Amino acid sequence: MIHTLLLRKKLCPLPISQALQRFFHATTTTTTTTNSSSVVSTSSSSPPPPQSSDPFCSDFHAEIAVIGAGVIGLAIARALALRGKEVVLIERNYHIAQETSSRNSQVIHAGIYYRNDSLKAKFCVQGKQLLYRYCQDRNISHSNCGKLIVATHRSQVKSDLCRLQQQAHTNGVTDVQLISKHDVQLLEPSIKCEGALYSPSSGIVDSHTFFLHLLGEAEDHGAMLAVNTEVVSAMYQQREQKKLWLQTQEIQTQPNNNHSNNNSHNKNDTLDSSSTTSWMSCDMVVNAAGLWADQIARMIHSKHDNNNNNRMGGWQPPRQYFAKGTYFSLTKKRPDFRHLVYPVPEPGGLGIHATIDLAGQVKFGPDVEWIDTNIVNVDDIEYTPNPDKAEQFYHAIRQYWPELDDMTVLQADYVGIRPKLSHPSVTKQLGFDDFLIAGPNTHGIPGLVHLLGIESPGLTSSLAIAEHVVELLLQSDG
Ligand SMILES: Cc1cc2nc3c(=O)[nH]c(=O)nc-3n(C[C@H](O)[C@H](O)[C@H](O)COP(=O)(O)OP(=O)(O)OC[C@H]3O[C@@H](n4cnc5c(N)ncnc54)[C@H](O)[C@@H]3O)c2cc1C
Repeated sequence: MIHTLLLRKKLCPLPISQALQRFFHATTTTTTTTNSSSVVSTSSSSPPPPQSSDPFCSDFHAEIAVIGAGVIGLAIARALALRGKEVVLIERNYHIAQETSSRNSQVIHAGIYYRNDSLKAKFCVQGKQLLYRYCQDRNISHSNCGKLIVATHRSQVKSDLCRLQQQAHTNGVTDVQLISKHDVQLLEPSIKCEGALYSPSSGIVDSHTFFLHLLGEAEDHGAMLAVNTEVVSAMYQQREQKKLWLQTQEIQTQPNNNHSNNNSHNKNDTLDSSSTTSWMSCDMVVNAAGLWADQIARMIHSKHDNNNNNRMGGWQPPRQYFAKGTYFSLTKKRPDFRHLVYPVPEPGGLGIHATIDLAGQVKFGPDVEWIDTNIVNVDDIEYTPNPDKAEQFYHAIRQYWPELDDMTVLQADYVGIRPKLSHPSVTKQLGFDDFLIAGPNTHGIPGLVHLLGIESPGLTSSLAIAEHVVELLLQSDG
């Protein structure tokens, strides 16, 4: 989970009015350096931030605004800043990467499962290589520990494992091998199975240190992070040279340092009624808002369509649905796994797998729990893990690790939410959902990119996705 201290050490928590004033206007600032962080606040002589409800009176202009400081927004902000672009990274939480990016398995995926013509396959394979190199070059803790996808029934060897091996080879992941149950015994003596697919290029990463490096490099190249700042409205309107407009609201909440089971931006957080809202104009906008990305896309495209009589073809962003994944850890009886151990994948997820972290701790999950389609606001989702799922986890884990003989050692740990582009009650038959990266060629608005459905393997793919988004933006920039 979040390494709050690490984040605090690096973060310079500025809300948007201060961040933008500092970025675009020279203001008098007071800098207080504390033990672990440098906190910048505007002095009383600073001009007040604009409070305008009229976007066209906006005081601020950004070359590029990236909405969302999860791993995708961070990687994109870094890639753009490295190319000399002026970037403002807007994040509604007090810390970076508090949402899906901190609620996953931290696995570097090989690129086995995904359809070969998909963005997931392409960016996972490219992103894996970029991520290993990035971690090696910067001494970020990671381990190329390898992974076993185990068949717990003989029929799964011929059907699932052979199919997955074929898929992996088609995706260019040619090092995956089908191994016998005796070979599995040599690698992982406590695993029971009928055979496995061995993936040597899978691994794990200290994702929190990775995020800090992305932020640090972005800031070193001039990017500005504005935290506690929510994009509440957005639109496309051609006024002089300015096109894209974002309305932001400063959120007056205290940092929540107990992230394990709470939604970091939950419904109990109080928004100060005097919160500052302001409009900014942008040459380009990247919507990397994770679970909320479809809502932001709708803000822009509904206003755009109303105001422009659909002249750009009326692209409508698809809705994101939510699938919860719960993790359990062990209070005792820890297996001595040296590899990641996965069952064959299930619809909507990769199955309740065993991952090890860099300290050797094992956790199990995530399962797939579809959230009701009536829930459109992700703030209404319960982030507290349900301990009643222990029995379901116990039976699933025992399929491949029968030494787990006591259900009471399973402890509900945390929950992550997948942004999905389909839902079983809507699409009936669940197919394969790809990442959706919608640039100007998709929706017709120059300088705008939306990232939707960025579920697994988004962490692995992040550096490759960032390069792709930069290309889309620079193409549209002419
Ligand atoms: C259970 C689970 C397990 C996974 N396991 C893996 C794995 O092992 N390996 C792997 O490669 N991938 C994995 N993934 C996928 C990976 O975690 C995601 O693809 C990735 O974290 C998505 O990052 P993001 O930046 O798009 O989203 P997020 O991390 O959610 O970031 C979006 C950010 O946008 C901010 N935001 C939202 N709305 C606004 C707004 N209006 N204004 C300002 N800011 C806003 C949010 O606060 C948030 O910080 C897993 C995902 C899940 C759910």
